[in-house]
Amino acid sequence: MDIKCTERELFILKKIAHAAEELGVETYLIGGFVRDKIIGRNTKDADIVCVGDGIELAKRVAKRFKPEPKFSYFKNFGTAHLRIDSSKHKESSKVLPPIDEEDLTGAAFDLEFVGARKESYRYHSRKPEVIAGTLKDDQERRDFTINALAISLNENDYGKLIDPFDGVNDIKRKIIRTPLDPLQTFSDDPLRMIRAIRFASQLGFTIEEKTFQAIKDEANRITIVSQERITDELIKIIDSAKPSIGFDLLYQSGLLHIIFPQMVDLAGAEYKDGIGHKDNFYHTLKVLDNLSEKTGDTWLRWAAVLHDIAKPVTKKFEEGHGWTFHGHEVVGGRMVPKIFTKLKLPLNEKMKFVRKLVELHLRPISLTKENITDSAIRRLLFDAGEDFDALMMLCEADITSKNRWKVKKYMENFQLVRKRCQEVEEKDRIRGWQPPINGEMIMEIFGLQPSKPVGIIKDAIKDAILDGVIPNSFEDAYQLMLKKANELNLKPVKSELRSR
Ligand code: ATP
Ligand code: MG
Repeated sequence: MDIKCTERELFILKKIAHAAEELGVETYLIGGFVRDKIIGRNTKDADIVCVGDGIELAKRVAKRFKPEPKFSYFKNFGTAHLRIDSSKHKESSKVLPPIDEEDLTGAAFDLEFVGARKESYRYHSRKPEVIAGTLKDDQERRDFTINALAISLNENDYGKLIDPFDGVNDIKRKIIRTPLDPLQTFSDDPLRMIRAIRFASQLGFTIEEKTFQAIKDEANRITIVSQERITDELIKIIDSAKPSIGFDLLYQSGLLHIIFPQMVDLAGAEYKDGIGHKDNFYHTLKVLDNLSEKTGDTWLRWAAVLHDIAKPVTKKFEEGHGWTFHGHEVVGGRMVPKIFTKLKLPLNEKMKFVRKLVELHLRPISLTKENITDSAIRRLLFDAGEDFDALMMLCEADITSKNRWKVKKYMENFQLVRKRCQEVEEKDRIRGWQPPINGEMIMEIFGLQPSKPVGIIKDAIKDAILDGVIPNSFEDAYQLMLKKANELNLKPVKSELRSR
């Protein structure tokens, strides 16, 4: 087996081997690092298993770097973590040859240490009991054959591959399969079902039939797994090169129905009077794949997942029109915080970005019609702001017609929108622009708490400037504010407020 490690990796592995020898414990590289080396993927971390105390081994390894790397451990699980940050660990050990400069420029490299253990989950619990075991025991408790490969770091057989479940062949055949009975493996830790699908999506592998059948049979047990662990895997599916593989498998297995039912609601095409609508689940997956060819941005990809999420709840059949989904972008926008909360995704700027894109995803299309005014263009530039390019990327990915001629025409239309937007932006500098009077000023002048009138006045100023009704100046905005406030029977409590 030909495995290529970088000089830097070899340098780190040697240190581990020396520390293990000093401690007198059998030690192996295991899991993702070995798998990815055989496949030829990049590696940025490695899992180390020793037949003994993993935390003690990690401590000894840490001592071999100067300055000592950050060390953390979980006593209950018997695991420890070290981060080798090359910018900090420039001193090489005296016993080993010095490493060349190039190796010092790499990103941080993470090491996870664990003592070999036997599987011992209890049925209703996801918390394993830790019982020490042999390397073989430890390989058996691993989720998939491709993740159970080990490489010896011991002096007598340094570099030897230990592959009790034919994992190398499974890598060659691109197959995901559990080392033991899949029903047992999934029952012990149901997260492994989503992990199987995640690896299929990341690696473009196929899940072996018996293993996939067991996922279908055990899907309901996913409910005992914490949302955080599920969402970590879901994000990895979204981040994979072709995320539709993962989502389709989640759907086919029945897991999606439990972990993300709103997406399942998108599936299927209803017919009435011989008129059908497209299957919005597969449309969404196509949009997601299209976008993923252009960007690795996780949150932009989430916007693709959620852009049509409200189509099922807004769907209507209108005589003479066929199927409509009026307002699905607004209702969808409102669903974003709810879905983020349920999935325990961060409720921060990222969530706001996704919501904004869902809400705006039809706007550029509306600008592909003829006779679009500058003010309509300015409005889009203002509303999209710094996320304008992301929005255009989403809209272009949203073209999923199989008709090549139509695709070409739609893309050309979007090119025109981009061009118009560029021209208007150059002229008026709308992106990142803020109206000269904001809500806080309005509250101060009229002695108001945050309330509806503040929004009405603020929007009136913004709209008047974007529509070119008043110039973009503090004075003009101030006069309009007074006029609007008067209409709302509001009197200023402060007369002096200068431009800031
Ligand atoms: P990556 O880090 O690229 O996501 P990985 O294979 O390293 O992939 P990790 O989650 O880091 O995945 O886990 C490291 C190793 O630990 C796996 O390769 C596998 O052997 C084992 N492992 C992780 N999670 C489980 C689990 N839930 N059940 C059984 N074994 C697991
Ligand atoms: Mg890993």
